[in-house]
Amino acid sequence: MAEKQHYSYNYIHSLIAASVLNKFDEAPGVIVAISGGGLIPARMLRTLLKARFGVTVPIRVVGLMLYDDDTEEISKDGVQRLQWPTPQEFGASLKSALVVDEVDDTRTTLQYAIEHLRKDLPSVSLGVFVVHDKQKPKRGVLPADVKYLAAAEVEDFWIVYPWDAVDIADHEKKARAQGLA
Ligand code: 5GP
Repeated sequence: MAEKQHYSYNYIHSLIAASVLNKFDEAPGVIVAISGGGLIPARMLRTLLKARFGVTVPIRVVGLMLYDDDTEEISKDGVQRLQWPTPQEFGASLKSALVVDEVDDTRTTLQYAIEHLRKDLPSVSLGVFVVHDKQKPKRGVLPADVKYLAAAEVEDFWIVYPWDAVDIADHEKKARAQGLA
């Protein structure tokens, strides 16, 4: 596999901040964070949306797993649903929901999340926000009416996020060396 790309917290924060400034017209009614990778981006996004639009957007969490964290290979079982809120937990008056993940790789996870949210919340307008969109052929497909935003488009390298790091000083050093700090 090609060299892994290490991104610092600052770099990711700056990418999300620039997106909120330049790519968002309004705040969604709810952020749907895909756990675990979407959790920290979703929380950063909430702060930056509050700064721009003055509203605190609630965060709901869906737990989905495609990759095996240990082997970094696609799980043979496809997308596994670990946690999923009931429609009631989203609230009856909800108008829009933004699904947030750290990276759109094959798009399989996003397709699953959107498909199932649409079933649960048929009258809610759905969008997607990812930090990184890998430029590669996608296996998953998103409906045309789902607004798609990516903070950055990147080549198909394995990305190491700062929240994956055990030794954060070493991680930051690698990020600096790669110009991704
Ligand atoms: P997809 O369903 O788009 O193929 O994969 C989405 C999930 O796979 C992401 O939520 C993420 O957890 C994991 N993933 C895919 N590519 C990468 C990568 O380059 N780095 C990390 N850390 N996770 C990745």
